Amino acid sequence: MIQEIYKPTQEDLERIKPYPDKLKVSGDGVFATLQGEGVTAGLPSVFLRLHYCNLTCGVPSGWLCDTSYTWNASNREFWQEPEDWSYEEAAIRIRNAWETTFSHRKEKRLVVTGGEPLLQQKKIAKLLQELPEWQVEIETNGTIMPISELYTCQFNCSPKLENSGNTLQRRYKPEVLRVINGLPKSQFKFVVTRPSDLDEIDKIVEECNLDNGKILLMPEGHTKEEVEAHLGVIREVVEVRGWRITLRNQLIWFGPKRRT
Ligand code: SF4
Repeated sequence: MIQEIYKPTQEDLERIKPYPDKLKVSGDGVFATLQGEGVTAGLPSVFLRLHYCNLTCGVPSGWLCDTSYTWNASNREFWQEPEDWSYEEAAIRIRNAWETTFSHRKEKRLVVTGGEPLLQQKKIAKLLQELPEWQVEIETNGTIMPISELYTCQFNCSPKLENSGNTLQRRYKPEVLRVINGLPKSQFKFVVTRPSDLDEIDKIVEECNLDNGKILLMPEGHTKEEVEAHLGVIREVVEVRGWRITLRNQLIWFGPKRRT
């Protein structure tokens, strides 16, 4: 099926521009749910989804980024959904989402996701000044050097492999991965779609001297059946290397639909 390419209006072109001292937030905005992946899977969290990404995963390869509305200019949603929120406004919405869903839980947890959140990392640092009591996770593709103001956050880094369809030059920044590896709360989630991905992961782990205890493999898939098929590929290697497996629980809970 040929995807229809949306032609932005003048109003869309204005809407997509970064706005000083405001976060560019995707159409999902904030939502409260359990963290679905990684070392904090199952913990109550408020997610903040930011707009823009510097990679284009799945274009034109086999799997497609499930948040392409944050970056794919062919999509109407990319142009029409983003909003500009001040730090105060974002903090109020985050607190409200928590109070509505998880007020009975003490530890407040924010997951800043995207797109690629570090494209707005100076703004994230300012937002976090409004939320000093929160535990914060930042999801990143590992291509942008984090600023020191964010070093106390938990970095959920998901370096992209050849299977993502991005060139090596765009997707692989060893100096960034080494810095993230050195942060106290960091993890690396690798999406696995085929056996050859494991050779690539081995190479990255060795070149960047990543801590084996921080490596998680995540079977790719937009359906439970796809995830189960890829799970078989990674089980043995995880046992041998001392790595871990993480599933995408949100797929099981909600299916492939968007959280809005
Ligand atoms: S880095 Fe993440 S958000 Fe960006 S295109 Fe890839 S999967 Fe999508």
